[in-house]
Amino acid sequence: MKFQTSSLRQNSFQDMNLSPVLFAALEKMSIKKPTPIQSQAIPVVMNGSDLIGIAQTGSGKTLAYALSVLTGLANKPNSRALILAPSREMAQQIYEVFLDLCKEMPVSVCLAIGGTTGSKQANQLKKNPKIIIATPGRMNDHLQTNKLLLKDVEYVVIDEADRMLDMGFAPQLKNIQATLRGNRQTLMFSASFGHNVDMIAQLFLHPKAVMIRSEQAEAPVESLKQKVLFLDRTMKNDRLLDELNATRGGVIVFTGSQESCENVGEYLKSYGFDTDLIHGGLSQGQRNRVVRAFREGEIRIMVATDLLARGLDVPHVDHVVNFDLPFQAEDFLHRIGRTARAGRNGEAITFVTPSDHRMYNKVKVYLQGAKEEQVDHSFKFIDRSKKFAKKSDAGPASKRSAGKGAPPPKKGSGKSSVNPFKKRR
Ligand code: AMP
Repeated sequence: MKFQTSSLRQNSFQDMNLSPVLFAALEKMSIKKPTPIQSQAIPVVMNGSDLIGIAQTGSGKTLAYALSVLTGLANKPNSRALILAPSREMAQQIYEVFLDLCKEMPVSVCLAIGGTTGSKQANQLKKNPKIIIATPGRMNDHLQTNKLLLKDVEYVVIDEADRMLDMGFAPQLKNIQATLRGNRQTLMFSASFGHNVDMIAQLFLHPKAVMIRSEQAEAPVESLKQKVLFLDRTMKNDRLLDELNATRGGVIVFTGSQESCENVGEYLKSYGFDTDLIHGGLSQGQRNRVVRAFREGEIRIMVATDLLARGLDVPHVDHVVNFDLPFQAEDFLHRIGRTARAGRNGEAITFVTPSDHRMYNKVKVYLQGAKEEQVDHSFKFIDRSKKFAKKSDAGPASKRSAGKGAPPPKKGSGKSSVNPFKKRR
């Protein structure tokens, strides 16, 4: 699809013709100046164009669409909006942003996501809420029983389109699109733009849609400091303790599998760290509890799988540790995007083992300027191109585990079993 470009740009919210009640909400949120994506995207949407925004994680894209959609809804009293997000956590986060913005506006907002009772949601949806924030799977389920739920939807937002497609939501998106009727304005956001995103753009967007690419859409932010540690996988647990002991603020430790997540989480708990773990194998209630506890600072360290790599917006994440590399290079960018958000400083520490050669080569582009340390002085990548690769290799990331195979915590290895941060909090 060929997109238009736009030279529209407003560097002040006051010049954007936003609904006046939104200014009070922005002030309460201490938001004063638009971010670059907001400066570019809001005028395009206010102009009535469809939009595709290729926006860096943490760039402020949620407010870019929320402010424009809420202004549109205020100007067209009979219209409604549908916001689609890939994960339940992201949908919930977007829901909270809308609630904050809507305090002074008479609009109803409904959250339609999996993991909560469908019948309660169905009743709310039947009342035609002004704004529906949903995951594609759950929205599609509701549409199977009632095709009219999206009546009068004039604004559609597809957030993290690339992630939705990675998660296999293309059929649900197509079904949702097929139930939409009448004129509408569609805004799509994606961290990357490839063939699949283009396909969904063709399906949803007007042929004259505008594309905005935030300059560093596919690069880490400058305020992020990075460090790469080359080490044997048996050294990871010990080194993790060292790194965590050297940190102060919130930390997310990313692992490559649910098993690894459990092992690392339990290992840290055994050392008395303020920590909990989150992965897709937990119930929605448990997932919500962990995210809430982390957001509210009840736990300092959250051990997670890539379930949490995208979208999570917790300002006090000062460090990200990539304990295992991800399966997809793009997830790496999203992981490190959990820190150094909205102008804050942040640090990402990445563990690389001899069996990580392939993925390391892929994520290297995101590690430019990173400080490197060879923790294992005999470190050498395993060359998988050789036919008889050594069987003792750790194997694919899915089989890696933090605790199993790694030696148990070494007593007297210099690590204190008391978490010093507990006292500081
Ligand atoms: P997002 O990319 O939408 O996840 O937003 C990332 C973070 O930036 C959120 O914590 C927002 O509250 C914050 N944010 C969004 N817009 C602005 C702004 N104009 N000024 C300061 N912070 C902002």
